[in-house]
Amino acid sequence: MGIELDKGLPEESSAATARSSNNGEAGLEEIQNLLREAVADEPALTILKGFKLDFSANKDFHKVFFSVRCECGTAALLSVEVARSKTLPQVSEALPELARRLKAKSRQFAGMSCDMHTRMRIGGATQAAP
Ligand SMILES: [Zn+2]
Repeated sequence: MGIELDKGLPEESSAATARSSNNGEAGLEEIQNLLREAVADEPALTILKGFKLDFSANKDFHKVFFSVRCECGTAALLSVEVARSKTLPQVSEALPELARRLKAKSRQFAGMSCDMHTRMRIGGATQAAP
């Protein structure tokens, strides 16, 4: 019986995002890393990397997804949009506000009763972006 430790997954997406560092614009991966650090003190929030949900297909925005999970097994999907034209310093500047909004939504979800969570699951409703 072997024990598999999490050695850290290989970054598959590095090749795909390599071209995004033109013009000083922030790449998706850079934005993801910044946001993940910004909400690190909110353990319920998990970043969903490589998660693509393109039903809105807004090509002018990077979309970063987070999931927030409750003990009862219900998870909500949260998303943050960042304009592609934003440079890394601009993203850093907006970061506290983005993190604040994410945490507020996370707490809102945590503040609901598990009875409500269960009803959300049955209804199949996922929380959409504002
Ligand atoms: Zn719950």
